[in-house]
Amino acid sequence: MRVLVVGGGSAGWITAAYLDAVLNGVGTPKSVLVGLIESEKIGRIGVGEATIPTIKRTLERIQIPERAFMEAADATFKQAIRFDNWLHEGHHYYHPFDRLTATRFDRHGLRWLASDRSVPYAETVTPQIKLCEEGLAPKRPDDRDYQGNIAYAYHMDAEKFAETLRDLAVARGVHHMIDDVSEVEQTESGDIAAVKTESGKRIEADLFIDCTGFARVLIGKTLGVPFESYKDWLLCDGAVAMRVPYDKKPQKNVRPYTTATALSSGWVWDIGLSDRRGTDFLTDEEAEAELRAHEGPHCDDLPARVLKFNSGRTETPWVGNCVAIGLSAGFLEPLESTGLYFVEEGVDYLTELFPRFGAMDQLRDLYNQRMRERYEESVDFINMHYVLSQRRDTPFWREATAAHRVTPRLQALFER
Ligand code: FAD
Repeated sequence: MRVLVVGGGSAGWITAAYLDAVLNGVGTPKSVLVGLIESEKIGRIGVGEATIPTIKRTLERIQIPERAFMEAADATFKQAIRFDNWLHEGHHYYHPFDRLTATRFDRHGLRWLASDRSVPYAETVTPQIKLCEEGLAPKRPDDRDYQGNIAYAYHMDAEKFAETLRDLAVARGVHHMIDDVSEVEQTESGDIAAVKTESGKRIEADLFIDCTGFARVLIGKTLGVPFESYKDWLLCDGAVAMRVPYDKKPQKNVRPYTTATALSSGWVWDIGLSDRRGTDFLTDEEAEAELRAHEGPHCDDLPARVLKFNSGRTETPWVGNCVAIGLSAGFLEPLESTGLYFVEEGVDYLTELFPRFGAMDQLRDLYNQRMRERYEESVDFINMHYVLSQRRDTPFWREATAAHRVTPRLQALFER
């Protein structure tokens, strides 16, 4: 079985390294040959720095030691997101990754609702917020790789992360090609037979994985799979990213959580890496000015990068013998760090359903259904952050909190 991954961003390299490690094992003969082709000219999106705890299971299955990964990708621990000024100016709440295990008869939420609510709910289910505020790590130095008493994830340098996985996968025998896919050859039934490159190569495979990011070279441009927009529920459609070295604004500790501060027309991310901080901010053209005002004069001479995106997903990420994973499959927005999570979900489910014997019809339907459910749950979750806000101070917040902006599934839950 030959698999060709097209695209070498985080999605492409997670997919290649994961498929190879999980389907073949490490250091054993290969039954599935994995190749990856990436363009040098186009480059990676280079953002995607905050993760959620599922990333540990993914890295463990790829079989990369935790310390080696953290050092190579400048990673730091992330234990929570702190939301500043979302409910109203001056208020903050945490989304901690840890909580007491919910059992079938868990009445914790009901008990909290019946209380005077003077202690925030999150603080009653985990000590993690205390750890965040003290600037402490979620584990001790001698805890085993990817283990600890408290749930955690990482912040990391997206470019270095992709490069780390690339070096690991290539060393294990994943075939790496640098070239641009310029043409796609299809069979009579509409499957992909081969891709052709600018340098004149023709590469065949049994299964093609589209990891070409927003370009959607296979799933969109070739196969024409429709894109379902989520812009009615998620209003943000752009970001300004800036990298702030620590010597510009020294902090006592690298913060073990991400901060998302609500601003006039969106919000700003603050992600602490081991050698710098990364910040994104989502609004319109004035975003950069507002981001600079928020950060302060120490950023005046730092360059900022504008990124535009359409929130939504490819209706059916698996069509014929092509599976879209990563930005080519969909993107919501950076809040709650779901980008890499969808990559992890996609590749994990693909290995579970892997078409070792050729037939794909049933597997495709299962895969598409599961991925649709994952996206819809996540849209509801992110949408909830906006619609429950009490802010009405700007046109953005008045629109984001309007009744027609609540997703129908969330509305049904509110009414329960
Ligand atoms: P890309 O990085 O764009 O890679 C595309 C690859 O395809 C490149 O290697 C390119 O060379 C190749 N390519 C394209 N066309 C061709 C061609 N014709 N031939 C050959 N190769 C080709 N996710 C998180 O989990 N956490 C976050 O905090 C987060 N923040 C984000 C902030 C913003 C503003 C945005 C836009 C996204 C964010 N994401 C985040 C999402 C995250 O960045 C992506 O999910 C992740 O980086 C995977 O991207 P990708 O590999 O799909 O695409």
